[in-house]
Amino acid sequence: MYTYRVNEIFYSIQGEGYFAGTPAVFVRFSGCNLACPWCDTVHSHATEMTHDELEAAVLELLAGHKGAIIVLTGGEPALQLHDDEPLFRGFRTRICIETNGTLPVPDWVNWITVSPKNGLSNIVPLFDELKFVFEPEHIPYYLSLQEAGGIKSIQPLARKDGTTNLPEALEFVLAHPRFRLSVQLHKIIGVR
Ligand code: SF4
Repeated sequence: MYTYRVNEIFYSIQGEGYFAGTPAVFVRFSGCNLACPWCDTVHSHATEMTHDELEAAVLELLAGHKGAIIVLTGGEPALQLHDDEPLFRGFRTRICIETNGTLPVPDWVNWITVSPKNGLSNIVPLFDELKFVFEPEHIPYYLSLQEAGGIKSIQPLARKDGTTNLPEALEFVLAHPRFRLSVQLHKIIGVR
């Protein structure tokens, strides 16, 4: 029987990337294979859940919200997907993953969003969307990928003092139309 380390499961609006504005059941897994100094995920907060417990929790939320997508996030969700394909296929809705791109992603995942973190170099070869937290010093890297397939989202950097570099990110996107702006809609409308 598969078990999972789960941080939280909840229903809300996807606030980031291509599916921003879409109702979604979020499954946030605990643990990551990287240790980014800026990471704000509390990896120690974890509930051990069996396959059956995870299935029941997600189905309960989906039952009341038919048509919602599922977003697997973390931490690094690709650490824990095992070979548990029947569980995720059984939800019968679009399965999205938000990954750092350093680990393989099963082919039953319908939408792969990669946020490159580890020196900006490791990206799983197949992805649907690249999502970058905008840092001007990485512009040459973003531009090196502008002809790559898939959606390329630029997200303003949220600083600890509550400010962002939205003006700079907006200027970059307007100058480079193959990119699109992603503005963390959930924070703007005040939901989790
Ligand atoms: S990849 Fe994401 S979850 Fe993992 S340590 Fe870095 S910021 Fe945290």
